[in-house]
Amino acid sequence: MKALRWYGKGDIRCEQVPDPGIEDPRDAIIKVTSCAICGSDLHLYNHFMPGMQKGDILGHETMGEVVEVGSAVRNLKVGDRVVIPFTIICGECDQCRRGNYSVCERSNRNAHLAAKAFGHTTAGLFGYTHLTGGYAGGQAEYLRVPYADATHVKVPDGIPDEKLLFLSDIFPTGWQAAVQCDIEPTDTVAIWGAGPVGQMAIRSALLLGARQVVAIDRIPERLSMARAGGAIAINFEEESVIERLNELTAGRGPEKCIDAVGMEAHVSMAHPDTILDRAKQAVMLETDRPHVLREMIYVCRPAGVLSVPGVYGGLLDKIPFGAVMNKGLTIRTGQTHVNRWTDDLLRRIQEGQIDPSFVITHTAGLEDGPQMYETFRDKKDGCVKVVLKPQ
Ligand SMILES: [Zn+2]
Ligand SMILES: [Zn+2]
Repeated sequence: MKALRWYGKGDIRCEQVPDPGIEDPRDAIIKVTSCAICGSDLHLYNHFMPGMQKGDILGHETMGEVVEVGSAVRNLKVGDRVVIPFTIICGECDQCRRGNYSVCERSNRNAHLAAKAFGHTTAGLFGYTHLTGGYAGGQAEYLRVPYADATHVKVPDGIPDEKLLFLSDIFPTGWQAAVQCDIEPTDTVAIWGAGPVGQMAIRSALLLGARQVVAIDRIPERLSMARAGGAIAINFEEESVIERLNELTAGRGPEKCIDAVGMEAHVSMAHPDTILDRAKQAVMLETDRPHVLREMIYVCRPAGVLSVPGVYGGLLDKIPFGAVMNKGLTIRTGQTHVNRWTDDLLRRIQEGQIDPSFVITHTAGLEDGPQMYETFRDKKDGCVKVVLKPQ
């Protein structure tokens, strides 16, 4: 089959690899009908995420049709249409039983590596680093799904892939980011990053009843998409984010702040901290560029909530924790507990409350994947979200 494989910084190739097969009775194999490139994939593409090996198959936003099931899988059959969550879940461990799926205790087959980095293991992820299990991803013609009896979202026929695919990651991720804000009808929710997750968070915050939502980015296409979704847009290259947010909230600051940017904040002369971060990153004195976190902590209203769906890898410098403590801020984080949200979100898609396909700007074949990674990374050609069609 064809698959997109990682070979190093900026080097992704579409190559022939052996088809995956059943390795465990709980596995299933799916034929991929659609997959997407995620902002988190760019952390691999830019090689800021440790634990990659040459030849790893990428991709963690995938859906398709079941073509083979292991002997222990009783709730899936050949021909079923499924979305595959990016988090692999066993469905049985203590954390899975609590709905904390992204910290499943059993699905990371390199649990010792994750535990060494983080103190405890987290779930296995598709197409990500060997810290999260090193599982082959779904930017391919076929995908082996481990623990497939738990790791799937069954979806009905008659709804196009484009409306359903993002149940695999960015829709529940934006949703969880908003839910973690405990939104009240008087709230201003400020969202840094109007990429795909930021776009989903905007719509989720409004569906959850926020008074106003503000989106912060610098790419015109993303800002107009944010406006179309009902947000007030701030272009941080043209105006002061902090001043404008204070203006929009009568000087109080937004009650809820969402960091949909993560470890690779934009570097610019206007924000000297980002230049220092970039320099430290280059010599491995820190792993991430936490400009957005610093700005959120500063501008957030006292007693407010900071919700962080943006991916961070390790060590952050100069986080003003004194402000966090003295302002009484709550920080809520986490990879997405995808299956906790998908029943509700599938229903909302079916009822027409939201159509997540609005975010797609590019559709291409798998062999165009390497080019599409570049287009997405450079935000060329109005690119916000890429869907790949392997078949
Ligand atoms: Zn993702
Ligand atoms: Zn589990």
